[in-house]
Amino acid sequence: MALTLDTPIVELPRHGTGKLTGYMAKKLADAVASFAEKKEPGDATVEDLLNYFPSRYEDRSNLTTIDQLSPGTEASIELYTRSAGAFEVRNNRNPKQRLYIYEIAATDRHRQMKPVLVWWFLSGKNAKHIVEYYNDRFGKGSRFVAHGEWRWSERRNAFELKLNKPDELEILPSDDDSNVFGLLANEPAGNKAEDRTLDEDVGSPEFDMVHTARRVPVYRKLGPFQTKRLREIIYDANKQLDPRSVPENLPGELVGKYKLLSRSQAITEIHFPPESSAISDYDRFRSEAHRRLIFEEFFWLSFALQLIRGERRKAPKGTVIEISDETLERAHRLYDFDLTNAQQRVLSQILEDMASDAPMNRLLQGDVGSGKTIVAFLAMFAAVENGYQAALMAPTEILAEQHFQNAKRIFEGTGYNVALLTGGVKAADKRKVHAGIENGEVHLVIGTHAIIQDAVKFENLGLAVVDEQHRFGVLQRAELTGRGYNPDVLVMTATPIPRSLAMTVYGDLDVSIIDEMPPGRTPIKTVVLGEDQRPGVYKGIAREIDLGRQVYVVYPLVEESEKLDLKAATKMFEELRDRIFPDRRVGLIHGRMKAADKEETMRRFVSREIDILVSTTVIEVGVDVPNASLMVVEHAERLGLSQLHQLRGRVGRGAEQSYCVLLTGDKKTAVAKERLGIMEETNDGFKIAEKDLEIRGQGEVLGTRQSGIQNFRLANIVRDFEILEAASKEAEYYLTKKRTSKETAAMVEIVHRSHRVKLAGVG
Ligand code: ADP
Ligand code: MG
Repeated sequence: MALTLDTPIVELPRHGTGKLTGYMAKKLADAVASFAEKKEPGDATVEDLLNYFPSRYEDRSNLTTIDQLSPGTEASIELYTRSAGAFEVRNNRNPKQRLYIYEIAATDRHRQMKPVLVWWFLSGKNAKHIVEYYNDRFGKGSRFVAHGEWRWSERRNAFELKLNKPDELEILPSDDDSNVFGLLANEPAGNKAEDRTLDEDVGSPEFDMVHTARRVPVYRKLGPFQTKRLREIIYDANKQLDPRSVPENLPGELVGKYKLLSRSQAITEIHFPPESSAISDYDRFRSEAHRRLIFEEFFWLSFALQLIRGERRKAPKGTVIEISDETLERAHRLYDFDLTNAQQRVLSQILEDMASDAPMNRLLQGDVGSGKTIVAFLAMFAAVENGYQAALMAPTEILAEQHFQNAKRIFEGTGYNVALLTGGVKAADKRKVHAGIENGEVHLVIGTHAIIQDAVKFENLGLAVVDEQHRFGVLQRAELTGRGYNPDVLVMTATPIPRSLAMTVYGDLDVSIIDEMPPGRTPIKTVVLGEDQRPGVYKGIAREIDLGRQVYVVYPLVEESEKLDLKAATKMFEELRDRIFPDRRVGLIHGRMKAADKEETMRRFVSREIDILVSTTVIEVGVDVPNASLMVVEHAERLGLSQLHQLRGRVGRGAEQSYCVLLTGDKKTAVAKERLGIMEETNDGFKIAEKDLEIRGQGEVLGTRQSGIQNFRLANIVRDFEILEAASKEAEYYLTKKRTSKETAAMVEIVHRSHRVKLAGVG
């Protein structure tokens, strides 16, 4: 039975694909579902599996014969077992454990008199059992292909190939599911391979060689499946896939114009490159298969974003916010400085959006410290002046708390009520706030994601501000709309994204940029120092404190080693408090602390009861303590440039000179030094972001991993920028010039269908 793209992976055994058992198919479905972000393993399909692209390729095309070998040749040879067996050797590393060498003496199809030797080590409790298993496998005459670097052994007077793992061999033909060759530890062993005689098999290759004698894909481990097993499974799926069930999803005109492969061909070739193409193109994501699939991804993304954007513009929100002179007058009294030109410009863009009948979807982008908050507060003020409620969501409780304190101060005397709503708010208070939001007594809500939880019902939400977008998902934005509110939405981010990229990443948003700092800021001085300069750094800390200032010492938390890092941060804190600065006030704050403790620590820092705040990267976003003038970042080499820039933005918020010291670990490598050097050179977040993009790629910089912003399967907006531009131009063409065509209608229908599915999943 042929497969289609929609065939669920759990059903593969029924199709006999890859000789998967039901048990392994479930494991595979599990792994694929989590990779493809499907809710249930049952939802994972052949399409999802085929979207698991190789990370690189190897060219194993050339089948060699023994007489063509010379020492050091890397080649595949099709071999026939002469004899095989195990012998015990001394185990120097672990004398208690038995160690065997399993060795096969084999010859090629020319039946050379001199065999080659293929061998590997074997140890462990089950060694005996495994030896028997191999003995069955490698009966006289059994055929296999071995790939690797062939060495000449003087001692044995033969070419030999040492394998790290025997699963680098491909046994031919193989019709069982072995539990030694794959990672199938929980399954009973398969059928024993029959012994085959040499003559039977020569010249009758009715089976496919999957792993050798061809170009092969190499996959990253997926769940328990390693590259060889994945290669087999994907090979079989590909082979059984009915090409007619792989519909072309790009307009024929585009396929012709850009000379793209058909979708079906591209899917096959991206896994198994044809012999005629340059393998190096595959490794560089530049093969015809890549080009086609990347184009497709960009085209559909651009098409959907442009479509949705156009439609949102058309959908009336019914809430029109007028800015009267009186409102403006009252707004001016909320702050005691002059807005910068940039702030004024973006504010009028925002107010214009709010006054319009179409809902606002605007991204406010501005470097750290550029003064986004006051702009947001003024927009919120305009909403409440018009009788609507306004909400501001921050990614962390600390930040929400801080915005809340600011908002209370700013809106004091306006007669509007400001409420805080975070997970940390006590249940009784929470209920009160909920009631206030529902009956309209609360005008401004500041909080975390708790604001959009089910229990919260707004009387009439007019404006939702989302601070630090890169920590928030696009889905959460959809969540608001999905729950029946259609407010104006303002998204603020300090992650400076080069303009060209903003369009695609936030394609459904209009973008405003604050490109000017408030006056009177002295640029932060940044230095990169090594471990040997630590004593000097401590002196600097003491000096700043003596001047009445405060200091951050930041310890990076890296996800993979979070526990260890946390320990290190805590140790550092104790060391600073007890040994280095016993007569200063040292505090500690990190993400794992209880919300109340975090708040209390932050409050003490703000009110200058703490001189040195040791923290993990939780203070990265938003925290505003103008008296802090020195930041020391430990292990700065572990952080991305953009992240460092965010961190650094916590100082330099007052008029006095601020400093940022980037300490690098013991080994201050040249690379780290060079990379961090840009931090010494510039305070311009945009320049830094571009550099960061260059070095690390999009996912890290744009924080797409946290936020779920368009995760591309294959495409990369930096590497493939040219394809992106073309695809996005074409999408626009279909939505404008060809808007009334049948093709466009069909594509619009597809977007609507998948969009509804997404929203339904959220609401
Ligand atoms: P960010 O854009 O990083 O969120 P904030 O909104 O926290 O920056 O502003 C940083 C600091 O600058 C705050 O202390 C704020 O009060 C101050 N500020 C904002 N705008 C101005 C301005 N036009 N003139 C002077 N100070 C300003
Ligand atoms: Mg901010």
